[in-house]
Amino acid sequence: MMPHQDPKQSASQRSFLGEFDLIEQFFKQSPNSLLATSKNPWVKLGIGDDCALLGNWAISTDMLVEGRHFLPNANPEWLGHKSLAVNLSDLAAMGAKPVAFTLALALPEVREEWLEKFSKGLFALAVQYQCSLIGGDTTAGPLTVSITVFGEIDSALALRRSGAKAGDDIWVSHCLGDARLALGYYRNEWSLSETELANVAPRMHAPTPRVELGMALIGHAHAAIDISDGLLGDLAHILRASDVSADIKIDQVPASSVLANKSVELRRLCTLNGGDDYELCFTAPITERDWVEKTTQTMGLSTKRIGKIKMREDSLMTLLDQDGDTLPKELQDQYLKSFDHFK
Ligand code: ADP
Ligand code: MG
Repeated sequence: MMPHQDPKQSASQRSFLGEFDLIEQFFKQSPNSLLATSKNPWVKLGIGDDCALLGNWAISTDMLVEGRHFLPNANPEWLGHKSLAVNLSDLAAMGAKPVAFTLALALPEVREEWLEKFSKGLFALAVQYQCSLIGGDTTAGPLTVSITVFGEIDSALALRRSGAKAGDDIWVSHCLGDARLALGYYRNEWSLSETELANVAPRMHAPTPRVELGMALIGHAHAAIDISDGLLGDLAHILRASDVSADIKIDQVPASSVLANKSVELRRLCTLNGGDDYELCFTAPITERDWVEKTTQTMGLSTKRIGKIKMREDSLMTLLDQDGDTLPKELQDQYLKSFDHFK
């Protein structure tokens, strides 16, 4: 997830490994190791995608830490919703059907009123997907919510980050950037009117996981990811895993009406690099265009084509403007910077 606040780090910590290098160096087991996932017949897909695939189960864990992933004194009902929503979003990215989850909670103090609201938000979303709470752990400590979700999927058909093919369209569901717009308001980066804030704040505090869309994409899309850390960074995961490159028409990235009324710079910042959107980015062959448009319309959801997958080139992504011209190098570099951050 995209952090809401940078952690207080010493200079030596700042030069520490990024999240992905850290996992690679200390946790991912080499193919020669006795623990190599390739030697475990249950593991169909290990570290590196939105979910692991274990037999016909898609499994994912996401942890939310106060002051890092949500603001101190966050509305507990929204927090309950969001804690499950971000996990369901990873199931959606694989096309899996939610079945059950576990809940690990660290609480600084036991406040019944808080727990009442938190569980209300949590179960309102769980009931929508008939996703049962089957266990967990509870302890005293700094407020932290960690959920593991289990979804049903035919592992052979799951949407993986590695499936994109040259010629595919790149699609994004609904619109991006509202959560970043709200976050910037709370961080005093810019101001918003009351009406604007009322429109965008729920997108940050209580995102909607695109579960139905993910499930429908099975057999139609080649690759998918949920956008939790910003479109460009997350799309880069698909491109690297699939060994392809992409052209992206950055002004076609869908923005809400609130964001569309802001300056071009702010709109691009929020839609391209804003986190916490939990929309799906997926690639599909052009023969699926009609299907994607009709299917998403019947779900009451819009979907936009934002670019194309091409054969692997030196640069992973080329950003294009309205007229299809490549953006100046300084702007490309500005938008493409800092994918890998320690979260
Ligand atoms: P997402 O944003 O989709 O939840 P992340 O960016 O958090 O995914 O993680 C990327 C990949 O690294 C995932 O496959 C995840 O399961 C794996 N991962 C993250 N942390 C660890 C860890 N401590 N040990 C093993 N795998 C990890
Ligand atoms: Mg994900």
